Amino acid sequence: MPSPESLPRPSFKRILFKPSGEALAGGSGKGLDGDTLDATATEIIDLRANLGVDVAVVVGGGNFWRGREGSMKGMDATQSDHIGMLGTVMNALALQDALERQGQETRVQSAIEMPRIAEGYIRRRAVRHLEKGRVVIFAAGTGNPFFTTDTAAALRAAEIEADVVIKGTHSGVDGIYSADPRTDPTAVKYDEVSYMEVMTKDLKVMDTTAIAFCRENDIPIVVFDMSVEGSLRSIVQGGPEGTLVRR
Ligand code: UDP
Repeated sequence: MPSPESLPRPSFKRILFKPSGEALAGGSGKGLDGDTLDATATEIIDLRANLGVDVAVVVGGGNFWRGREGSMKGMDATQSDHIGMLGTVMNALALQDALERQGQETRVQSAIEMPRIAEGYIRRRAVRHLEKGRVVIFAAGTGNPFFTTDTAAALRAAEIEADVVIKGTHSGVDGIYSADPRTDPTAVKYDEVSYMEVMTKDLKVMDTTAIAFCRENDIPIVVFDMSVEGSLRSIVQGGPEGTLVRR
C-alpha cells in the first residue's frame, strides 16, 4: 500500500537493531545457529565499518523461552519472564562472540546485573561505547517481567537517542501487512503506516506498549525480514525494504 504523499524514507546514523530470538536460530526457530549468527554479525559490522553507523542491539529471547508460554501452563508469570530474560542474555553472548570473531569490538550490557559475564546497563557508558565505535548489545530486556524485548528496544532507543528501531524478523514476512499473508491471500503490504493505524487496526508488528512508546517519543520503526541479505544496509540508507512506521 504505497502512500504517494509520504515523504522519502530517512537514512539513519544511530540505530537500535532488534533481532527477534527466532531470527538468530536459523530455520528451526529454536536454540542458536552459528551460520545465522555469523551472517547477522557480518551485516552489523558492515554498517559500523563501512557506513559509520552507531549500532546498538537489543536481542530477543523467543528462541529459548517466552514468558507467556510458561505462565499459560501454570508457571508463575514473573518467574517465567525471568527465564525469558535469561534467554536474551544467552543470545547476547552468542552475538557478541560472533561479532568479536570477525574483529568487531563490542560490549554487552545487561539489565539484570551479572558482573562476571556482562557490564550492567549504564546509559552514559553505553553512549560512550557507541562513540568509540563499539557495538553495544543490551541483554535481559528491560530487566522487568511483564515486558517484552520490543519494549526494551523502544526504551533503549529513546535513552541512547537512536534515530530508529529496526526490528528484524525471520518469519518469511517482509514487513507489515493488512492481514497475515501466510494465511490470507488478500493481505496487502504497507510500505509505510502510522503508529495510530498499527494500534487501531491491531496490526501484528510489535506489542502495543512498544508502539505507544515509540509514538510518544517520535521514534520511527522499520520492520523487515532478516533472512534477505543486504536489507539492513539498505534500510539504514533510506531504502524501501520492509515497512516504515512513523507519524
Ligand atoms: N522479557 C521480560 N521483560 C523484558 C523483556 C523480555 O520479562 O523486558 C521476557 C519475556 O518472558 C519474553 C522473553 O523474555 O517472552 C523473551 O523476549 P521476547 O518474547 O520479547 O523475545 P522475541 O520474541 O523478540 O524473540
